[in-house]
Amino acid sequence: SMASPALLMRVVASAYSVAEKAATIVRNVMSAGDLGIVEKAGPNDLQTKADRLVQMSICASLARKFPKVTIIGEEELPTDDVTEDLIEDGHCEEILKKPCPAQYTEIKEEELVIWVDPLDGTKEYTEGLLDHVTVLIGIAYGGKAIAGVINQPYYNYEAGANAVLGRTIWGVVGMGAFGFQLTEAPAGKHIVVTTRSHSSALVNECITALNPDHVIRVGGAGNKIIQLIEGKASAYVFASPGCKKWDTCAPEAILHAVGGKITDICGNSFQYNKEVKHMNSAGVLATLRNYDYYASRIPNTVKESLVP
Ligand code: AMP
Ligand code: MG
Ligand code: MG
Repeated sequence: SMASPALLMRVVASAYSVAEKAATIVRNVMSAGDLGIVEKAGPNDLQTKADRLVQMSICASLARKFPKVTIIGEEELPTDDVTEDLIEDGHCEEILKKPCPAQYTEIKEEELVIWVDPLDGTKEYTEGLLDHVTVLIGIAYGGKAIAGVINQPYYNYEAGANAVLGRTIWGVVGMGAFGFQLTEAPAGKHIVVTTRSHSSALVNECITALNPDHVIRVGGAGNKIIQLIEGKASAYVFASPGCKKWDTCAPEAILHAVGGKITDICGNSFQYNKEVKHMNSAGVLATLRNYDYYASRIPNTVKESLVP
């Protein structure tokens, strides 16, 4: 008989279903019309009812199934008043059928850290830029991002009533990533994707130094990684603090699963053990291909302005 699936594959299969439930919550809060916006650090750091409900849903659902896993979510919320209607206990059967990469088959619950961004691109969500929004569930082991789920609740929302709304992208390092069509950016063109709502003089100075053919300004770390793996952009460049581990963990796992690379602006890789500080203080540099081209053109003055 078949051995029972490895823990990692069970966690990814559950995270897939939990992210789909999260997407339903994100859409329901928007269609109900009361976003319940709260400012956290300031007007560009918002939390909505969707951020709150989704965080409770994801964290409580995964904690119930995997009680020894460390789960770190973006929002600071009480964890004791989660209602039963927020719990998702399903999983994706197709993921469970796939073999776990050999290096991950022996992982135990207490060795996993799950980084949750319940709603990435909140500012854009409040402004109706709905396809910028993603739900991010990143899975780390040994300080490395090894698997991730990115749900895009409003994928296809402008494609007409017959298009299927929303999608779930998932991946495991050593296995690959699924739920989208891997596409390389146009050869010989330098298309940089960066922040829309968290720009600064340094962010713009860094982009100017790269002399890109085109700059795309969109919200969300998850959304920008999707731009890379679908060939819309050749590099994600963000020379600023502000991004946190829950923004980069799931995107990093999926990008690495398809041969891409993500570091801070100085070239340091990110760590995802539970003790690590949350802020990615030295920004983000990510590509699907040609990482070295962009890394070698980041000015030293920019690197020296950002301290990891
Ligand atoms: P953005 O590309 O601006 O959408 O940022 C990607 C992620 O990092 C989002 O979750 C943002 O909320 C977060 N982020 C980036 N810069 C800042 C900032 N200055 N303050 C708060 N959050 C930020
Ligand atoms: Mg975020
Ligand atoms: Mg968020």
